[in-house]
Amino acid sequence: MRSTMLDVPLTIGSLTHHGSTVHGRTGSVATLTADGLRRAPYAEVARNAARLAHALRGLGVTADQRVATFMWNNQEHLEAYLAVPSMGAVLHPLNIRLPSDQVAYIANHAEDFVVLVDATLLPAIAPVLPSLTTVRHLVVVGDNAAEAADAVRGKAPGVEVHAYSDLLTGQPDTFDWPDIDERSAAAMCYSSGTTGNPKGVVYSHRSVVLHSMGIALGDALAIGSNDRALPVVPMFHVLAWGIPHACFLVGASLVLPDRFMTPEPLARLVEDERVTLAGAVPSVWGGVLQYLDANPDTDWSSLRDVIVGGSACPRTLMEGFERHGVRILHAWGMTETSPVATVAVPPEYSGGERRWRYRLSQGRLVSLVEARVVTPDGAVAPWNGETVGEVEVRGPWITGSYYGEDASDRFDDGWLRTGDVGHLDADGFLTLTDRAKDVIKSGGEWISSVQLENLLMGHPSVAEASVVGVPDERWGERPLATVVVRTGESVTAEQLRDFLVGQVPRWQLPERWSFVAEVPKTSVGKFDKKVLRQRYAEGDLVVETLTPPARQADAADEE
Ligand code: ADP
Repeated sequence: MRSTMLDVPLTIGSLTHHGSTVHGRTGSVATLTADGLRRAPYAEVARNAARLAHALRGLGVTADQRVATFMWNNQEHLEAYLAVPSMGAVLHPLNIRLPSDQVAYIANHAEDFVVLVDATLLPAIAPVLPSLTTVRHLVVVGDNAAEAADAVRGKAPGVEVHAYSDLLTGQPDTFDWPDIDERSAAAMCYSSGTTGNPKGVVYSHRSVVLHSMGIALGDALAIGSNDRALPVVPMFHVLAWGIPHACFLVGASLVLPDRFMTPEPLARLVEDERVTLAGAVPSVWGGVLQYLDANPDTDWSSLRDVIVGGSACPRTLMEGFERHGVRILHAWGMTETSPVATVAVPPEYSGGERRWRYRLSQGRLVSLVEARVVTPDGAVAPWNGETVGEVEVRGPWITGSYYGEDASDRFDDGWLRTGDVGHLDADGFLTLTDRAKDVIKSGGEWISSVQLENLLMGHPSVAEASVVGVPDERWGERPLATVVVRTGESVTAEQLRDFLVGQVPRWQLPERWSFVAEVPKTSVGKFDKKVLRQRYAEGDLVVETLTPPARQADAADEE
């Protein structure tokens, strides 16, 4: 028996329609500029999206061409988020922090046809232009776009350069949006390449709408029309974790920082705009916390949740924000999972240390996301909160392949292999112990680099700590701890090792230590362990070696 329900496609056009009509006056976007905030209600955003769609049609975007963006988090970027998929083309936000050769690789692989670029980012994209093989149009957005466009015109043969404002002037503010198959491509992102070559993931209209609904659920990020969300996470990083589309879906307002990404403007933005929800990777929040500690009068009382994801959230960060009355909500996901797959909302009944365990876990599976843990011998682990293996996931917003790439080894019978190692408990809470490639394999035993890092970052003198496995003649691999000491503090390797005693088995204590000014970061702000391993291999790190711990086997028996 067939249902009697209408089969209405789930599209970005439909969420744009809802946001710009039902919430057209109350939902709004505020973008930070050098002269204060620039605001627009969602009805105006949708009118601009229509103008942009006309302008792009005029450039020859008539089918599923890729329209790339090379932009900060701002209103025009939001307009592209809505216009490009709704007209049937594919939005492709490029990572503005990647080295030129990787940007070129990604843009060529995706066969980008148009690139919208913020005028302030022209110097960053200029060196890439000669290597772009499929781009025909560069559209410069922002103040002084016309002059900025003149400066690059002719520098890239075969690429026409336009000013955004010129292209949009005079365009109609409505558009006859085409009917779109909900399974067709809406947007694409490339994984940031922490693990080898970047791989493209293509989101469908349906997956974006369902993910938006999924993250707006009460037990996920609980986004509603009274929220004002500040995605500090860049709009090129997994579509800003889905926050912009979700906000349009439910009529929540957006506050966008543009290029003003340092702690002070961010902290002020929260205060001035009464932000209720903000999201970024831990390294961003670490800087903001230092600002808040130094400026305790900052009024953050409006902020309900700070979403932390992308890397494991250290307990000290959660405790630090708690001092300012702000709750950190830990979430886990990846480019391949749109990205939100788990959110760590602790059960009401949990208290004390148990509550902390829930909060520090990567979180509970969001409705419609399924997960399983597969042990090294191929068995599916019970949900007992301890059996560890590779985490595999599936669901309506999880990718089933990569764009233009055969990566069948990344999938297992319809499940995505995440490359993350961890366990699930009986209530569907996921705890990651490490990334498979970062686990330190020492004498046949596994050491979690993340656990050592988070414990070290709990030491009052430590600002940042990253731990990687380095080759060791005797044990195969041993941990190397790279530490950034807080300004004005001092601490020795012995003291840090002694601090770890009792918190991890003795044989896991690192004997190699290196004090550095900064831990290298990836283009999305995560510790760059590839670079650390390379620096160690090339002898670029000053390493202090302490006496090794007791023989590993004996030490393990001792536990
Ligand atoms: P890349 O793989 O290039 O870093 P992604 O942003 O897709 O790009 O990263 C996804 C990975 O980030 C996950 O597989 C996981 O290893 C890590 N990650 C994301 N969120 C968390 C978290 N809350 N805790 C620990 N690791 C996380």
